[in-house]
Amino acid sequence: MIWEGVLKEKLEALGITVRVATFTGDSSYPVEYTLSKGDVRTFGEPTIDLAMVALIEKLLPQEPVLLDCPHCHGAHYTGQRCPLNPDKQ
Ligand SMILES: [Zn+2]
Repeated sequence: MIWEGVLKEKLEALGITVRVATFTGDSSYPVEYTLSKGDVRTFGEPTIDLAMVALIEKLLPQEPVLLDCPHCHGAHYTGQRCPLNPDKQ
C-alpha cells in the first residue's frame, strides 16, 4: 500500500508505536500490524488501516452500561461502585 509509509510516519508523530511483523508459513496473516500508545495495544491486524480502527476503538471512551447489581438488587453503571459492596463493582 503506497500510503502505508505516510500513515506510519503520521502515527509515530502522534506517539503511536507501529510494529510490522512479517510471517512465513501458516500464520493467520502474512503481515501483522500492531499499534500501541501507552498501555493501549491492538492485536495484530492484516492491514495498517484495520490496526488504526482497532486502536481508535480502544482509545474511545466506553459508553457506560447499566448493569443489574446482585448486592443491592438495584443497578449501577459500569465503573460505579455499589454502596453495599464498595470493594467490588
Ligand atoms: Zn448495588
